[in-house]
Amino acid sequence: MPFNLPGTLLPLYALFNPRLLLPSLIIPDIRHLDFPALRNAGYRGAIFDKDNCLTLPHNDKLVPGLEDAWSAALRVFGPSHVLIVSNSAGTRDDPAQLQAESVARHLHAPVLLHAALKPSYSCAIAALSALPDLAPHEIIVVGDRVFTDVVLAHRLAHPRTPWARILTQFGLTLDRPRSLPVQDSLPTAGGSGEESARAPLAVLTTRIWQRESMVMRLAEATLMRLVERWIDGARERRDALEERFVRRTLDNDNEKDAEKPVRGWFS
Ligand SMILES: [Mg+2]
Repeated sequence: MPFNLPGTLLPLYALFNPRLLLPSLIIPDIRHLDFPALRNAGYRGAIFDKDNCLTLPHNDKLVPGLEDAWSAALRVFGPSHVLIVSNSAGTRDDPAQLQAESVARHLHAPVLLHAALKPSYSCAIAALSALPDLAPHEIIVVGDRVFTDVVLAHRLAHPRTPWARILTQFGLTLDRPRSLPVQDSLPTAGGSGEESARAPLAVLTTRIWQRESMVMRLAEATLMRLVERWIDGARERRDALEERFVRRTLDNDNEKDAEKPVRGWFS
């Protein structure tokens, strides 16, 4: 895994904006997402992390047992509205994008080619550019890491560099206008008001298919839990969203028989 400067600096950013660390939903894995309910609520596209979310790390194939859920995601949103954004495949550490090609072939979905790692603003801009007809609030972002996937979800609503934010302060914004939210009553993780109404739905998966960065995961989870306790109503907002979009029980034995996870932090 390449050194991730934006991820390393994240605790500093979180000091000023701890809501960055709040997921909208916490689920064991993608089989627990109710994709039709998400579509009915106005979500029209999805960004998925790869390692320890859809595949084992350094592996290009879907984790056995996730096939039905993955097919449902592609069917509900359409292949052109599903994007895989990985910090391994499709980055500078993927020579000639061979891994990105392989993942795209196995998963039947495009892999974002990006120079800047998640959760940088550059990566957020690249991801939005790859889904040009979707507004941030119409997207769900699914991944297993708080400091990369959850933060990326929040930054998609404000994909600006610090320099662009300074310009905005002086009324010199360069952002292109985006459409207004369609789902007027959906709370997201960040709280109420226009800011959260523009944000994607941040979905954190907790099943770890192969051990990787366990100390960092524990630190991220602890911080996230502290922030959730500290911010008024955060836990209630997550509970309300999970009520709407999480499948508590799986339909059949095939789904239950997915490859055994190593560990789930919250499940
Ligand atoms: Mg991952």
